[in-house]
Amino acid sequence: GRPRVVVVGGGAGGATVARYLAKDSEGAIDVTLIEPTRKYYTCFFSNLALGGFWDMEDLAHSYGALASEFGVNVVHDWAVGVDRATRTVTTAMGHTFPYDRLVLSPGIDFIDGAVPGWDVTAQNKMPHAYKAGSQTELLKAQIQNMPEGGTFAMVAPPNPYRCPPGPYERVSMIAYMLREANPTAKILIADPKQTFSKQGLFEQGWNLAYPGMIERIGPDFGGENVEVNPDGMTISIDGEEQKVDVCNVIPAMQAGKIAHDAGVTDGGWAPVNAEDLSSRMDANVHILGDAAGQGDMPKSGFSANSQAKVAANAIRGALTDARVFPARFSNTCWSLIDRENGVKVGATYEATPEKIAKVDGFISQTDESPDMRAETYRESLGWYASITADMFG
Ligand code: FAD
Repeated sequence: GRPRVVVVGGGAGGATVARYLAKDSEGAIDVTLIEPTRKYYTCFFSNLALGGFWDMEDLAHSYGALASEFGVNVVHDWAVGVDRATRTVTTAMGHTFPYDRLVLSPGIDFIDGAVPGWDVTAQNKMPHAYKAGSQTELLKAQIQNMPEGGTFAMVAPPNPYRCPPGPYERVSMIAYMLREANPTAKILIADPKQTFSKQGLFEQGWNLAYPGMIERIGPDFGGENVEVNPDGMTISIDGEEQKVDVCNVIPAMQAGKIAHDAGVTDGGWAPVNAEDLSSRMDANVHILGDAAGQGDMPKSGFSANSQAKVAANAIRGALTDARVFPARFSNTCWSLIDRENGVKVGATYEATPEKIAKVDGFISQTDESPDMRAETYRESLGWYASITADMFG
């Protein structure tokens, strides 16, 4: 029969690898995609939904085209077990899928106890909104219902985590929404990191657009010593407790659970060979996106998509006689600071024996003209349209 590839997770990495494997092998490879949800909401641009620039439905994508246009066998189920000896994946509904190659792109899970007082059972009182969909809507509703002059608090995550500028774009978008609806409200960030992505750009943007609204408490002032009480809606920073109206807890992260269950993780993430994203523990397993130890690449949807194309090419080469090209990767992370005020940071990468290594990069400058910022924002909209088409067809 045809060689079989099973893909676990239909997000940025998994949808792309399934689509490219099916499309480029023209049916020579049997591709199964296991993903529990019928509708995938992108985390990317979910902050724009918080700001009111996008609707939730603008973030939604389905798997119809992968199945009907490209012949991917889309299975809506949870993968619950991987047996690397017999090369099979089992699902919650009790099905077993044999594979020649397995691709895992399950994204992230949170580390229990990373923020004392918080665990996933508290996610309705203190949402993370770091997996998009109902969590995004809930956080938005909570912010809209804040009392006049109330306080929004964010517990920012330690490195490494999904989307390095994501929490700070979120702060920008919440500030945008509050400036319109609740201008005396305050934003408080407790941050365990000394510095963060695009910090100079964000801080300048915040001072200009939202003066006096945003306070960030870094590790030197207790930002890494945080505890929350979801029932009492309090946060304590370095032992000083205060009441807040909304609390967005973004805990420390690790690879999605199934990667740990499959036994391909080490210290939270799955170590991979850069040239084909194969596991360093099992040549028949590839790990993409946030779950992988990605070397110099940040954990982003763009990175996951870029890695998926490299992996698809390598897997086709191994299972058919397709030609394999040298691995090249790229990423750009856009962030919206204010209306029409977009900034970006990006780089290209290559595979070395040690890791995915940065070749060169670029970043927006402070003091850029409004025209340049508007142009960057328009570029980000074009990117969203093209990358989601590249993932979901
Ligand atoms: P995901 O896209 O999370 O996909 C994982 C999928 O696996 C999910 O659909 C899940 O249901 C499924 N899954 C998990 N476990 C199982 C299992 N056991 N069985 C079956 N399926 C399973 N990136 C950008 O490039 N640009 C941005 O502007 C950007 N902005 C962001 C803003 C925010 C607020 C956030 C939170 C993230 C942002 N990102 C951005 C990051 C981006 O969303 C992630 O890096 C990207 O989604 C990672 O892709 P992935 O395939 O690793 O995981």
